[in-house]
Amino acid sequence: MTKQFGWWFFTCGNQVLVIPQGERIPYGDIDDLPVPMLDFSAAERFASYKGEACLRLELPEVVDMGMGEWLELRTTMSLLNAALFNLVGKAQQFALFLQTHKFCGRCGNALVRVDWELAMQCDHCGFRAYPRISPSIIVLITDGNKVLLANHRRHQKQDMPIYTAIAGFVEAGETLEQTVHRETREETGLKVKNVQYWKSQPWAFPHSLMAAYFADYAEGEINIDRRELADAQWFDASVLPHLPPPGTIARDMINHWLSQQTE
Ligand SMILES: [Zn+2]
Repeated sequence: MTKQFGWWFFTCGNQVLVIPQGERIPYGDIDDLPVPMLDFSAAERFASYKGEACLRLELPEVVDMGMGEWLELRTTMSLLNAALFNLVGKAQQFALFLQTHKFCGRCGNALVRVDWELAMQCDHCGFRAYPRISPSIIVLITDGNKVLLANHRRHQKQDMPIYTAIAGFVEAGETLEQTVHRETREETGLKVKNVQYWKSQPWAFPHSLMAAYFADYAEGEINIDRRELADAQWFDASVLPHLPPPGTIARDMINHWLSQQTE
Protein backbone atom coordinates (compact mmCIF):
# COMPACT_ATOMS: atom_id res chain seq x y z
CA MET A 1 0.00 0.00 0.00
CA THR A 2 1.27 3.42 -0.91
CA LYS A 3 2.09 5.90 1.80
CA GLN A 4 -0.88 8.13 2.54
CA PHE A 5 0.86 11.32 3.54
CA GLY A 6 0.25 14.85 2.38
CA TRP A 7 -2.45 17.48 2.08
CA TRP A 8 -5.92 16.02 2.40
CA PHE A 9 -8.71 17.38 0.24
CA PHE A 10 -11.89 15.77 1.56
CA THR A 11 -14.75 16.84 -0.70
CA CYS A 12 -18.44 16.13 -0.86
CA GLY A 13 -20.16 17.76 -3.81
CA ASN A 14 -19.47 21.48 -3.53
CA GLN A 15 -18.24 21.18 0.06
CA VAL A 16 -14.73 20.74 1.40
CA LEU A 17 -13.36 19.96 4.86
CA VAL A 18 -11.47 22.96 6.27
CA ILE A 19 -9.67 22.99 9.61
CA PRO A 20 -9.11 26.04 11.82
CA GLN A 21 -5.31 25.78 12.02
CA GLY A 22 -2.37 26.53 9.75
CA GLU A 23 -3.13 26.56 6.05
CA ARG A 24 -6.57 25.14 6.90
CA ILE A 25 -6.26 22.00 4.77
CA PRO A 26 -5.57 18.82 6.81
CA TYR A 27 -1.94 17.73 6.45
CA GLY A 28 -0.06 14.64 7.52
CA ASP A 29 -0.20 10.85 7.59
CA ILE A 30 -3.77 9.63 7.46
CA ASP A 31 -3.03 7.34 10.42
CA ASP A 32 -2.07 10.35 12.55
CA LEU A 33 -5.16 12.44 11.74
CA PRO A 34 -8.14 12.22 14.09
CA VAL A 35 -10.43 11.02 11.33
CA PRO A 36 -13.09 8.30 11.65
CA MET A 37 -12.60 4.79 10.29
CA LEU A 38 -13.30 5.28 6.60
CA ASP A 39 -11.97 3.61 3.50
CA PHE A 40 -9.09 5.86 2.51
CA SER A 41 -7.73 3.44 -0.10
CA ALA A 42 -9.61 5.33 -2.83
CA ALA A 43 -7.75 8.56 -2.02
CA GLU A 44 -6.00 9.77 -5.12
CA ARG A 45 -2.94 11.95 -5.56
CA PHE A 46 -3.94 14.72 -7.96
CA ALA A 47 -1.41 17.49 -7.45
CA SER A 48 1.36 18.64 -5.14
CA TYR A 49 1.70 21.63 -2.83
CA LYS A 50 4.93 22.77 -1.20
CA GLY A 51 6.60 19.59 -2.38
CA GLU A 52 4.07 17.24 -0.77
CA ALA A 53 1.28 15.20 -2.30
CA CYS A 54 -2.25 16.53 -2.55
CA LEU A 55 -4.68 13.67 -1.96
CA ARG A 56 -8.35 13.93 -2.74
CA LEU A 57 -11.19 11.78 -1.49
CA GLU A 58 -14.78 12.43 -2.49
CA LEU A 59 -17.18 11.24 0.20
CA PRO A 60 -20.70 10.12 -0.69
CA GLU A 61 -22.15 12.14 2.18
CA VAL A 62 -21.08 14.73 4.72
CA VAL A 63 -19.81 12.93 7.81
CA ASP A 64 -18.24 14.16 11.03
CA MET A 65 -14.52 13.97 10.25
CA GLY A 66 -13.44 14.53 13.85
CA MET A 67 -11.88 17.86 12.92
CA GLY A 68 -12.71 21.05 11.10
CA GLU A 69 -15.93 21.82 9.31
CA TRP A 70 -17.49 21.32 5.90
CA LEU A 71 -17.70 24.54 3.92
CA GLU A 72 -18.87 25.40 0.43
CA LEU A 73 -16.07 26.14 -1.99
CA ARG A 74 -17.17 29.76 -2.43
CA THR A 75 -16.87 30.35 1.32
CA THR A 76 -13.30 29.07 1.37
CA MET A 77 -12.11 31.80 -1.02
CA SER A 78 -11.59 34.19 1.89
CA LEU A 79 -10.00 31.50 4.12
CA LEU A 80 -7.49 29.76 1.86
CA ASN A 81 -4.58 31.19 -0.05
CA ALA A 82 -5.05 31.39 -3.84
CA ALA A 83 -3.02 28.23 -4.53
CA LEU A 84 -4.99 26.08 -2.07
CA PHE A 85 -8.30 27.58 -3.21
CA ASN A 86 -7.47 26.55 -6.78
CA LEU A 87 -6.45 23.07 -5.58
CA VAL A 88 -9.78 22.61 -3.80
CA GLY A 89 -11.48 23.64 -7.04
CA LYS A 90 -9.37 21.13 -8.92
CA ALA A 91 -10.26 18.32 -6.50
CA GLN A 92 -13.96 19.13 -6.80
CA GLN A 93 -13.81 19.31 -10.59
CA PHE A 94 -12.04 15.94 -10.78
CA ALA A 95 -14.74 14.38 -8.59
CA LEU A 96 -17.50 16.00 -10.66
CA PHE A 97 -15.91 14.74 -13.87
CA LEU A 98 -15.76 11.14 -12.61
CA GLN A 99 -19.36 11.30 -11.37
CA THR A 100 -20.72 12.64 -14.66
CA HIS A 101 -18.73 10.52 -17.14
CA LYS A 102 -19.69 6.97 -16.29
CA PHE A 103 -21.04 6.05 -19.71
CA CYS A 104 -19.91 6.64 -23.27
CA GLY A 105 -21.66 9.56 -24.96
CA ARG A 106 -21.21 7.86 -28.35
CA CYS A 107 -22.22 4.23 -27.78
CA GLY A 108 -23.57 4.09 -24.21
CA ASN A 109 -21.18 1.49 -22.82
CA ALA A 110 -19.52 1.96 -19.45
CA LEU A 111 -16.39 4.11 -19.43
CA VAL A 112 -13.22 3.05 -17.65
CA ARG A 113 -10.56 5.24 -16.11
CA VAL A 114 -7.27 5.51 -17.97
CA ASP A 115 -4.29 5.51 -15.66
CA TRP A 116 -1.84 7.91 -17.34
CA GLU A 117 -3.97 11.05 -17.49
CA LEU A 118 -7.30 12.24 -16.14
CA ALA A 119 -9.66 10.76 -18.70
CA MET A 120 -12.39 8.15 -19.07
CA GLN A 121 -12.28 5.83 -22.04
CA CYS A 122 -14.74 3.56 -23.81
CA ASP A 123 -13.12 0.20 -24.52
CA HIS A 124 -15.95 -0.59 -26.94
CA CYS A 125 -15.64 2.31 -29.41
CA GLY A 126 -12.48 4.10 -28.27
CA PHE A 127 -14.19 7.39 -27.30
CA ARG A 128 -12.31 9.28 -24.61
CA ALA A 129 -13.72 11.98 -22.34
CA TYR A 130 -11.79 14.67 -20.48
CA PRO A 131 -12.88 17.04 -17.72
CA ARG A 132 -14.97 19.85 -19.11
CA ILE A 133 -13.38 23.28 -18.91
CA SER A 134 -15.41 26.27 -20.09
CA PRO A 135 -13.30 29.26 -21.13
CA SER A 136 -14.75 32.66 -20.45
CA ILE A 137 -13.51 36.23 -20.62
CA ILE A 138 -13.74 39.09 -18.19
CA VAL A 139 -12.95 42.59 -19.40
CA LEU A 140 -12.39 45.79 -17.46
CA ILE A 141 -13.29 48.70 -19.75
CA THR A 142 -11.81 52.06 -18.87
CA ASP A 143 -11.86 55.58 -20.27
CA GLY A 144 -9.24 57.75 -18.64
CA ASN A 145 -9.98 57.83 -14.92
CA LYS A 146 -13.42 56.25 -15.38
CA VAL A 147 -14.24 52.55 -15.33
CA LEU A 148 -17.31 50.76 -16.64
CA LEU A 149 -18.86 48.47 -14.01
CA ALA A 150 -22.08 46.52 -14.23
CA ASN A 151 -24.54 45.10 -11.76
CA HIS A 152 -25.54 41.64 -12.96
CA ARG A 153 -29.09 40.44 -12.48
CA ARG A 154 -27.82 37.55 -10.35
CA HIS A 155 -26.24 40.05 -7.93
CA GLN A 156 -29.22 42.39 -7.88
CA LYS A 157 -31.14 41.08 -4.89
CA GLN A 158 -28.40 41.83 -2.39
CA ASP A 159 -28.72 44.86 -0.13
CA MET A 160 -25.50 46.26 -1.53
CA PRO A 161 -25.51 45.46 -5.26
CA ILE A 162 -22.10 44.37 -6.52
CA TYR A 163 -20.71 46.16 -9.54
CA THR A 164 -18.12 44.28 -11.53
CA ALA A 165 -16.45 43.87 -14.92
CA ILE A 166 -18.18 42.52 -18.04
CA ALA A 167 -17.86 38.75 -18.47
CA GLY A 168 -19.13 35.95 -20.65
CA PHE A 169 -18.47 32.49 -22.03
CA VAL A 170 -16.47 31.85 -25.17
CA GLU A 171 -18.57 30.43 -27.98
CA ALA A 172 -17.43 27.62 -30.29
CA GLY A 173 -15.13 28.92 -33.00
CA GLU A 174 -14.31 32.21 -31.29
CA THR A 175 -10.96 33.62 -30.25
CA LEU A 176 -10.83 35.07 -26.75
CA GLU A 177 -10.45 38.56 -28.23
CA GLN A 178 -13.56 38.10 -30.36
CA THR A 179 -15.45 37.11 -27.22
CA VAL A 180 -14.28 40.31 -25.51
CA HIS A 181 -15.66 42.42 -28.36
CA ARG A 182 -18.90 40.44 -28.69
CA GLU A 183 -19.73 40.32 -24.97
CA THR A 184 -18.98 44.02 -24.58
CA ARG A 185 -21.21 44.90 -27.53
CA GLU A 186 -24.04 42.57 -26.48
CA GLU A 187 -24.10 43.48 -22.80
CA THR A 188 -23.30 47.20 -22.90
CA GLY A 189 -23.76 48.42 -26.49
CA LEU A 190 -20.19 49.82 -26.41
CA LYS A 191 -17.21 49.25 -28.66
CA VAL A 192 -13.72 48.82 -27.21
CA LYS A 193 -10.15 49.09 -28.49
CA ASN A 194 -6.63 48.24 -27.26
CA VAL A 195 -7.76 44.87 -25.88
CA GLN A 196 -4.90 43.58 -23.70
CA TYR A 197 -4.66 40.15 -22.07
CA TRP A 198 -3.70 40.33 -18.40
CA LYS A 199 -3.89 36.95 -16.65
CA SER A 200 -6.19 34.02 -15.99
CA GLN A 201 -7.93 32.32 -13.08
CA PRO A 202 -9.50 28.87 -12.87
CA TRP A 203 -12.99 29.30 -11.51
CA ALA A 204 -14.59 26.08 -10.32
CA PHE A 205 -18.22 27.25 -10.44
CA PRO A 206 -18.49 24.71 -11.84
CA HIS A 207 -15.71 24.48 -14.46
CA SER A 208 -14.73 27.86 -15.91
CA LEU A 209 -11.39 29.31 -16.83
CA MET A 210 -11.48 33.10 -16.75
CA ALA A 211 -9.19 35.03 -19.09
CA ALA A 212 -8.90 38.64 -17.95
CA TYR A 213 -8.51 41.56 -20.33
CA PHE A 214 -8.19 45.31 -20.07
CA ALA A 215 -9.72 47.40 -22.83
CA ASP A 216 -10.17 51.06 -23.64
CA TYR A 217 -13.52 52.56 -24.49
CA ALA A 218 -13.77 53.29 -28.22
CA GLU A 219 -17.30 54.48 -28.99
CA GLY A 220 -21.00 54.13 -28.28
CA GLU A 221 -23.56 54.86 -25.58
CA ILE A 222 -24.39 52.48 -22.73
CA ASN A 223 -27.32 50.33 -23.79
CA ILE A 224 -27.46 47.28 -21.52
CA ASP A 225 -28.80 43.82 -22.21
CA ARG A 226 -31.55 43.67 -19.59
CA ARG A 227 -31.62 39.87 -19.60
CA GLU A 228 -28.07 39.86 -18.19
CA LEU A 229 -27.55 43.20 -16.49
CA ALA A 230 -29.58 45.33 -14.12
CA ASP A 231 -27.35 48.37 -14.55
CA ALA A 232 -24.04 49.57 -15.99
CA GLN A 233 -22.38 52.91 -15.34
CA TRP A 234 -19.12 54.78 -15.69
CA PHE A 235 -17.59 55.26 -12.25
CA ASP A 236 -14.89 57.72 -11.29
CA ALA A 237 -11.83 56.06 -9.74
CA SER A 238 -12.43 58.09 -6.57
CA VAL A 239 -16.09 57.08 -6.11
CA LEU A 240 -16.49 53.35 -6.66
CA PRO A 241 -19.55 51.23 -5.87
CA HIS A 242 -19.66 47.98 -3.87
CA LEU A 243 -17.03 45.77 -5.55
CA PRO A 244 -16.65 41.98 -5.86
CA PRO A 245 -14.79 40.32 -2.95
CA PRO A 246 -11.00 39.98 -2.72
CA GLY A 247 -9.80 36.77 -4.35
CA THR A 248 -11.87 37.25 -7.48
CA ILE A 249 -10.02 38.17 -10.65
CA ALA A 250 -12.52 41.01 -11.14
CA ARG A 251 -11.43 42.62 -7.86
CA ASP A 252 -7.76 42.05 -8.75
CA MET A 253 -8.31 43.85 -12.07
CA ILE A 254 -10.05 46.80 -10.45
CA ASN A 255 -7.30 47.08 -7.83
CA HIS A 256 -4.62 46.85 -10.51
CA TRP A 257 -6.27 49.63 -12.51
CA LEU A 258 -6.71 51.77 -9.40
CA SER A 259 -3.03 51.40 -8.48
CA GLN A 260 -2.13 52.82 -11.87
CA GLN A 261 -4.52 55.75 -11.47
CA THR A 262 -2.83 57.06 -8.34
CA GLU A 263 0.68 56.96 -9.78
ZN1 LIG B 1 -18.28 4.04 -26.70
